Amino acid sequence: MSSEFILGFVAGEGSFYVSVSERANSRVKITPAFSIKVYEMDVLQSIKEELGVGKIDKYEDEYSLNVQSRPECERVRKFVNENCTRWFKSTHKYEQFKKWCSVLDILSNWERNNPPKDEKMKEAVDLAYSIARTNTREETKDYWYSLIDESERYTCGEERTNGDICNRPVTSKNEACVWHNN
Ligand SMILES: [Zn+2]
Repeated sequence: MSSEFILGFVAGEGSFYVSVSERANSRVKITPAFSIKVYEMDVLQSIKEELGVGKIDKYEDEYSLNVQSRPECERVRKFVNENCTRWFKSTHKYEQFKKWCSVLDILSNWERNNPPKDEKMKEAVDLAYSIARTNTREETKDYWYSLIDESERYTCGEERTNGDICNRPVTSKNEACVWHNN
């Protein structure tokens, strides 16, 4: 199966998605995902082999290739970038793909700059909501914004060497800052 054929399926049946959910400790969790739904199992199997990632599930009479982990999403990004054509760049799907990639970038920066920057978290929520129709979401963007703002108010309760309370911002209740964490 040619890469151009696969890009055709991505443009037509592919879905770049970012879910926003709440963790137990009031932190906002951002999860990118990708899927393609088609009726023909063998077509999907070929796409899976070509991408090298994903899991095939059956929904009624359709099959769906689901890609959910961050490393697997990065693999999809690499495939699209390496095989991108001028035609694909002119599609609406490519606009979604670019926003989805921006979320992947924000997520990989979080790992390097812990604790995460609130503005970046809000930007990721914003991108997530701009990719997919908002009427499929259970919460409003403002809900996530306020959760992000609230999480900013938690501070480290450990003592500094001079006896003062640390008070560095942390992302959840009862969490110690990076300097007091070990
Ligand atoms: Zn501290």
